[in-house]
Amino acid sequence: MIDPSPHPSSPPEWAPRRRWGVLDFLIALVLLGTGIGTLPLLTAGPGKEARVLLEGKPVARLRLTGEARIITVAGKLGDMQLQYGESGVRVLSAPCPQQICVRQGWVKRSGSRIICLPSHIVVAVGGKAQDASAPDGVTF
Ligand SMILES: [Zn+2]
Repeated sequence: MIDPSPHPSSPPEWAPRRRWGVLDFLIALVLLGTGIGTLPLLTAGPGKEARVLLEGKPVARLRLTGEARIITVAGKLGDMQLQYGESGVRVLSAPCPQQICVRQGWVKRSGSRIICLPSHIVVAVGGKAQDASAPDGVTF
């Protein structure tokens, strides 16, 4: 009598030599997740422009290229001086009492921002380059 379904004593060749444990699976998942999670950060290079927002409304747009220039924007407490150029953007002077925004120094990476709470000012660095025809600095 011939058995139609033989039972091999060894596992078939396609079977993995070592079974993946739950831990391996989790580690792979974490590595994969971390890779995907950090990818945008790694690819986010220096910002091409910075937007100045007063209470969420854009008041100025600064191109982060070329020589450093200085612009004055009116915050809630008074005028703030921003310096911007290929080094990024920073707050030169502000009327806020704690000077947190001034001490923050230059920011350049796309997605980073300077926030001056007392002035209600946010300077947000963006990655998108403007048209070549766009002016260097715009005050709305
Ligand atoms: Zn400030």
